Amino acid sequence: MTHVQGLPIAELADEFGTPFYLYDADVLASTYTTLRKLLHPALELYYSLKANPNVSVCAELVDLGAGAEVSSGIELRTAAAAGAKAEHTIFLGPGKSDEELRACVDAGIRAIVVESETELRRLDRLVAGRAPVDVLLRVNPSFSTKGSGLSMGGKPRQFGIDEEDFPAVVAVAAGLPGIRIRGVHAYLGTRILNHADIVHNTAGVLRMADELRRRCGIELETVDVGGGLGVAYFENEADLDVEAMATGVNEVIAEFAAAHPETRLIMELGRYLVALAGTYVVRVRDVKRSRGETFAVADGGTNHHMAAVGIGSFVKRNFPIRALSSVDESAMSTYTVTGPLCTPNDVLGKRVQLPGVEVGDLLGVERSGAYGPTASPVQFLSHGYPAEVLVRAGVAHLVRRRDTAEDILDRQLLIQR
Ligand SMILES: *Cc1c(COP(=O)(O)O)cnc(C)c1O
Repeated sequence: MTHVQGLPIAELADEFGTPFYLYDADVLASTYTTLRKLLHPALELYYSLKANPNVSVCAELVDLGAGAEVSSGIELRTAAAAGAKAEHTIFLGPGKSDEELRACVDAGIRAIVVESETELRRLDRLVAGRAPVDVLLRVNPSFSTKGSGLSMGGKPRQFGIDEEDFPAVVAVAAGLPGIRIRGVHAYLGTRILNHADIVHNTAGVLRMADELRRRCGIELETVDVGGGLGVAYFENEADLDVEAMATGVNEVIAEFAAAHPETRLIMELGRYLVALAGTYVVRVRDVKRSRGETFAVADGGTNHHMAAVGIGSFVKRNFPIRALSSVDESAMSTYTVTGPLCTPNDVLGKRVQLPGVEVGDLLGVERSGAYGPTASPVQFLSHGYPAEVLVRAGVAHLVRRRDTAEDILDRQLLIQR
């Protein structure tokens, strides 16, 4: 892939400089609309800004119909700037500040997802004298999940209220005039690639929600079933079979919706909606040999793309890496692709097959639209945040300026001596 929507990536690199993140709005749209068509209409899709909080990326998904799931005051503002309606925004996450809670109340968002009894009491105090605020209680389920590298259920966690403690917290909420419990939320894990696991998790959350409703008498205006839909990055991984996932999930949803026609259902999606749309573009600055290994040293590395380190079990696993300039498939060779950091761990790809790489060539780390720069140590060696470019309707737009030396230096204070 050397072009995006007909635009040569080499020209974009000349125009915007490297390294940069390149997003394709057509891929964002096709991913969203395909999933939207497959899934039961009762299931509302909310975009988790955490995966990629760029305001223009967010706006694409909001335009397509996604709600917003935010986890910080700035994400709340980003979602609003991207056009997300307050009634289609939820706020969740541990350690919310008073300021963030107040901003949610002032904006009148659909629901605040409360993570603990103390948070519930704090929110009640903050809304004192005003109309009660709509709350979903996040549950830390007693059942465990399969298929996720980051399991969230059945363990001690800083997230949510343990299922066992749920009735006691509901009893507390009954005495808090500022709180109106509207339902429950659960999130069981991320990057799940097996469709049966997502069906299993969704069924588990819905069963639990119904049980909590019966046991505690809470209203189920909304149930947020989480999500965690995965994208394959590494060799030996297969993409999620979304059709099979949708078939299974829809069955479970249809059954629940028949029994609870008044309940609105939410699925939260971060990675799945944005990962495929993004490519991290770097330019090779040096090609060198060291003790039998050939290194392609690029102008960007794990400082912008920590996930590409891909440490899993004992072997390093590679994101898909492609040559983006001239592609001479006849001369494939093996390269270790590294970045500009002074650490041997700054490896984007180990033993990558690429056509003869020369200084000045462009390389792209694909499937990189999620958890890129925001989940990376962008200030390491003071390189700063990369540029971000979104191609929309055949036109490339700069959607984030790269950090300049001034951006980084102006924040630091030199003590006068
Ligand atoms: C991170 C997170 C998400 C998004 O997860 P993805 O795996 O990127 O879809 C959704 N909900 C919660 C509660 C999260 O913490």
